[in-house]
Amino acid sequence: MPAAPTTPNESKRLAALRSYNILDTATEEDFDELTELASAICSTPIALISFVDKDRQWFKSRHGLDVSETDRALSFCAHAINSPTEILEVENAKEDKRFMDNELVTGPMDITFYAGVPLVDVSGAALGSLCVIDSVQHKLNTIQRKALKILARQVIDKLELRRKVVELDNTRTRIQRLNELLVAKEREATQIIEHTPTAMALHIGEDMEIRFANKMMLGAWGKDERVFGMNFKDALPELDKLDFPTTMRQVYRKGIHYEQKEAHMLYMHYGKLKEFYYNYAFTPLKLSDGSVWGVLNTAVDVTDIVKSRIAVERAEEQLRLAVQSAQLGTWSINADTYEFDASERTKELFGFLPDEVITYEAAVNQITEEYRDKVKKTVEAAIKENRGFDMEYAITGLHNGKLRWVRATGKLYSSGDGKAAQFSGTLSDITERKQDEQRKNDFIGMVSHELKTPLTSMKGYLQIIGQRANKLGDVPIADFTKKTQRQADKMQALVTGFLDVARITEGKIHLNNDVFDINDVMRAAEDELRVNCKGAHITFRLCDSLLINGDKDKMEQVLINFINNAIKYSADEPEVTITCSKDGDNALVIVSDRGIGIPAADIPYIFDRFYRVENTHVKMISGFGIGLYICKEIIEHHGGTIGVKSEPGKGSDFWFSVPLSK
Ligand code: ADP
Repeated sequence: MPAAPTTPNESKRLAALRSYNILDTATEEDFDELTELASAICSTPIALISFVDKDRQWFKSRHGLDVSETDRALSFCAHAINSPTEILEVENAKEDKRFMDNELVTGPMDITFYAGVPLVDVSGAALGSLCVIDSVQHKLNTIQRKALKILARQVIDKLELRRKVVELDNTRTRIQRLNELLVAKEREATQIIEHTPTAMALHIGEDMEIRFANKMMLGAWGKDERVFGMNFKDALPELDKLDFPTTMRQVYRKGIHYEQKEAHMLYMHYGKLKEFYYNYAFTPLKLSDGSVWGVLNTAVDVTDIVKSRIAVERAEEQLRLAVQSAQLGTWSINADTYEFDASERTKELFGFLPDEVITYEAAVNQITEEYRDKVKKTVEAAIKENRGFDMEYAITGLHNGKLRWVRATGKLYSSGDGKAAQFSGTLSDITERKQDEQRKNDFIGMVSHELKTPLTSMKGYLQIIGQRANKLGDVPIADFTKKTQRQADKMQALVTGFLDVARITEGKIHLNNDVFDINDVMRAAEDELRVNCKGAHITFRLCDSLLINGDKDKMEQVLINFINNAIKYSADEPEVTITCSKDGDNALVIVSDRGIGIPAADIPYIFDRFYRVENTHVKMISGFGIGLYICKEIIEHHGGTIGVKSEPGKGSDFWFSVPLSK
């Protein structure tokens, strides 16, 4: 038996069949009712709804048959679909050449009668057939044929309906998924808006109804969610003066973005008048056709930034004025390249013209030889070690050759943005002060010198008077002479001190260079003080022999100065301990007292010339503030260091350390 030829538009037909998603689905009552009806109407035991697949025919409903599918080559329906508009009616297949040797006819199925109406869908595709089958010969009457056709249409209708239901179901699932997606997106968007560091609000309509505002915006307004749904003007009367709704309305009408930077605002915020600076923007929100449906209001509070910038600008202006009025020069050195940037005043102090370029080297060249190297080294060390810089030195002006004294102070400022640090500071003209000091020094030096000779002869005469009074047994005169001698000694110490200062400032300090034991210095001081300081408890703790190079008398002068101060700045019964020890390659001498001590603020200046602590204790004690200055100069000329550790009310430890002889 020849198999039915495939339909002319087979691939389209198969695609249509697949689109119903019907193949291999479970039986459905709706379809089974139709086959039952067909079988009853046509009085056949078997009725089938058969779909012709690529290589098989598959039965969606099979009334009176157990088999669910057969080979397409055996299929009667495959024949039926080739004439989609007609019923294929085979009264006796056993006598029909097309089917007589068909397995379904000759085999156990024993088909004799077959009538099939093609199932043609709206697109014209013949999907299969509704057929009735019997093992005995039949002939359908007109009513039966018509009924079969009606039932076939019903099958198609159900098929369409089924597809629509499936489509509807799919659409519903899709919508549901979209909805879930939408809800998730909205949740994400809300969270982003809530947590963004920008204040945000959404306004709708001509009156700028507040549709939504995040926490930042509510905070900026000083409001809560009760303003949602209100018109801007009604919700925020505090901002009336700033008239935002008018600007927003323009944005809404014209669809043009509007923004302001660092806008200054003054308004009542949580009941208090406050000042703010905001960067804010009104952005039109548009539909795809370009029409505006709302205005997005975004704002960033830049109050702190603007206020600190204003403060910096103000401070800079004040500094500029101060620098100007104090006639200070300013300068800056690039810490990497030593590129030098100098103000006009700095150039003037170095003797340069205002429009002349001044390099670091050119500036250094104008420093007098005496200071040049020291300034260079100190600048370099300050940059390298990030230390402050404060130096006084002399300059010879480039064009005018004028000698000036200047004080330069500076500090290293790191740029913080990866650029080289700048070492910058100020320069002030201290020529006048220096000249004053010079005059004072000259005067002190001259007066001290002039006093020295009369004082020496006065002391000589006093000695003779004393001896005479003793010889004559004139006790009162002998006593007065002793007292006068003591005063003359004090005066002589003072004059010697002033002469030392004058010598130091002129760089004329002279040191002997002997090798001596530091213990000998201690012993000499002890002898001297045994005579002069009877009331004090002074303890000397000698050490193993420590040899040093230098001037023994000057070293003794330092030690006696320390001890005299320890006694001078202590209460009635001074307790002073003097110790010496080896400290590395140095000899260390410490003079400890339990006296009035020194405030921390005074300690850095205590070795300066003419410096005295300003308090009532010290005022009662005579002195000129030159002793420690001289001590420092002597110790430093020995290559040593000097210092003090002190606590007010508890006492002081004055110390010096000098290198051991090699
Ligand atoms: P003078 O004692 O003549 O004022 P010095 O240069 O010796 O000058 O001392 C400077 C200042 O240091 C003193 O005026 C005093 O204020 C303070 N000082 C020095 N030694 C001591 C000390 N042992 N205890 C407390 N203060 C001291």
